[in-house]
Amino acid sequence: MGDDVYVVGHKSPDTDTVVSAIVYAKIKGYIPVTQGAINEETAFVLDKFGVPAPGDLGSAEGKKLVLVDHNEASQAPDNLDKAEIVEIIDHHKMNFNYPDPIAIHVEPVGSTATILAKLYQDEVMKDKTLAGLLLGALLSDTVIFKSPTTTEEDKKVASQLAEVAGIADIEAFGIDVKKAKANIADKPIKDVVMADFKNFDFAGNKVGIGQTEVVDINDVYNRASEVMDFLNDLKGKEAYEMLIFVATDIVKEGSELYYVGDKAKMEKAFNTTIGDQSVWIDGLLSRKKQVVPVIDKTF
Ligand code: MN
Ligand code: MN
Repeated sequence: MGDDVYVVGHKSPDTDTVVSAIVYAKIKGYIPVTQGAINEETAFVLDKFGVPAPGDLGSAEGKKLVLVDHNEASQAPDNLDKAEIVEIIDHHKMNFNYPDPIAIHVEPVGSTATILAKLYQDEVMKDKTLAGLLLGALLSDTVIFKSPTTTEEDKKVASQLAEVAGIADIEAFGIDVKKAKANIADKPIKDVVMADFKNFDFAGNKVGIGQTEVVDINDVYNRASEVMDFLNDLKGKEAYEMLIFVATDIVKEGSELYYVGDKAKMEKAFNTTIGDQSVWIDGLLSRKKQVVPVIDKTF
């Protein structure tokens, strides 16, 4: 094993995972790395505070690792058994087994960034860059405090970080962060509808339900005709009984549901009058809990 220590977050890196690696590495004199390319949201946060994206870990073999924002092997680097894990800092359920005693710090808070801000107040609370990065990660993971994973501690830490980072309006900054990833303007409509799409079999009927999250539903309204063309086309090609696209506005906390299929079924499912192509449902955020069961029931 070399003497270098690498701090790495989970696969399909999100902002909390990347920022936690950067901040912890900076505090400890370690090397921050990622598993794979960073997303648009993370790029926005790093750019905002003038911090370069970490390099890729590559093979974990023969390396000393600190795992941040994850602890399960399925999310960790491949060849983990050929690496040496020296520490874990995380806010997920534990599914970890290791032959040696190591330092593990896990707390049930909204982000790993929250934990680092609390543990390393002396370093973080006088450094505008570190505080700003951590605030971006915290707001990303808690969906600007709307996620049920949010704790009072997250809110308290966020206001401290905001003060150090010179962010006057936390909510507005959070929206900018979420907006960076939710920007669908330049994406082909197929990618928007199909990025998070699931097929269901309701009493022998093939139903497809996609979902996207945006911070301004107008971004979807502007492309409504494209959405409908795509859904109609797909329904014809793949013999769907019904297709639904759930466009969720995380700021307004509701969704516009676009559909092709039986309007009467939609009206029955959502117990409301429904337009010929879509309807806004206030408070609807979850496909799993608020769309699938009611549609299933109508078939
Ligand atoms: Mn994460
Ligand atoms: Mn996290």
